Amino acid sequence: MKTAKTTEGKEIVAAPDAPEEALCPYCGGIVVLRRRRTMNKGEVAYYYRHRSNHNTQCSARRRPIG
Ligand SMILES: [Zn+2]
Repeated sequence: MKTAKTTEGKEIVAAPDAPEEALCPYCGGIVVLRRRRTMNKGEVAYYYRHRSNHNTQCSARRRPIG
């Protein structure tokens, strides 16, 4: 997902200076900041991903955003 939230409920957009850990807006589970290179231009894309495999029921997994 491209956006997560803090424990205060504030929205965070995945970016180089974003927190390493945040909460999933859908299930409240812990998500971690990840980075990967895009195929075009070799740019680095940032996104949040669930830390564990425990949140298999989370809607963010079924319908990935971004
Ligand atoms: Zn989730």
